[in-house]
Amino acid sequence: LTTADPIDEHRICVCVRKRPLNKKETLTKDLDVITIPSKDVVMVHEPKQKVDLTRYLENQTFRFDYAFDDTAPNEMVYRFTARPLVETIFERGMATCFAYGQTGSGKTHTMGGDFSGKNQDCSKGIYALAARDVFLMLKKPNYKKLELQVYATFFEIYSGKVSTRSFSEEVSSYVLPFSPFVQRTSGQTSANAHSSRSHAVFQIILRRKGKLHGKFSLIDLAGNERGADTSSADRQTRLEGAEINKSLLALKECIRALGRNKPHTPFRASKLTQVLRDSFIGENSRTCMIATISPGMASCENTLNTLRYANRVKEL
Ligand code: ADP
Ligand code: MG
Repeated sequence: LTTADPIDEHRICVCVRKRPLNKKETLTKDLDVITIPSKDVVMVHEPKQKVDLTRYLENQTFRFDYAFDDTAPNEMVYRFTARPLVETIFERGMATCFAYGQTGSGKTHTMGGDFSGKNQDCSKGIYALAARDVFLMLKKPNYKKLELQVYATFFEIYSGKVSTRSFSEEVSSYVLPFSPFVQRTSGQTSANAHSSRSHAVFQIILRRKGKLHGKFSLIDLAGNERGADTSSADRQTRLEGAEINKSLLALKECIRALGRNKPHTPFRASKLTQVLRDSFIGENSRTCMIATISPGMASCENTLNTLRYANRVKEL
């Protein structure tokens, strides 16, 4: 351990959020195998069988900066994850917040909020909550005198290519000039199939006298189970799976480099990390990862993969 670089706790926050069992899981009597015994511990209780067929639970424990159970609302998750990063971009810093996890584990619920229902305000996600606080912060005398301009942009990275949904536009209030939630309105199933393969990037950019002052990137990552697609029969699916794998590995290495204040950041390895390049370097860069997990036994393998990945981000 003496040769390892100490990790800069201040710059990286890694959290886990468990979602409740959904209707389908309840109907199929899937077991909830996840417990959160304290505010920073996640336990997985995996049912197993010995050779003599006796059953037992294999318990695994993981520790993070915060662990949110299935009763935690978006506003609370936000308060401990992205909220502290709003200040960073006003102090000429770069901030990133990622939702990482299996498709269906709650990434979009966490970032975009659940906009499928009528009652939109009840479940604002981190995009909207961060935008709200940026505009509140702008009114503070200290920041008001800087005369900052706010821009917002939303794009996706799909199969290693950037596809722009909305160009950077100046915004004057927290009612955004476009909706980062467009993908949810066009048929749930196809929208989910698409979003599980693409990284959705929402950025709030502060400029002062035309120069970049700070940037907050909020990212709803592609489903991490897509790695399994690398053995799919379909070539396109296989290539997409490989690309997603590559970008998630590159992301982990970039965050690790950031936490160790390493001069070399391996951002060239994927489109995602290239696009976020300036957020991984620089004195005042901070990042937060929210690993979302499904509670069901049926998702156990994916859940363990997610927890191991998240753990690794902060490991020495
Ligand atoms: P992902 O984006 O990771 O594929 P979603 O955010 O679309 O997953 O979540 C899948 C479903 O589970 C959605 O219907 C969503 O509303 C619901 N859900 C996810 N997280 C939560 C949560 N913490 N509380 C209640 N419902 C949730
Ligand atoms: Mg999603």
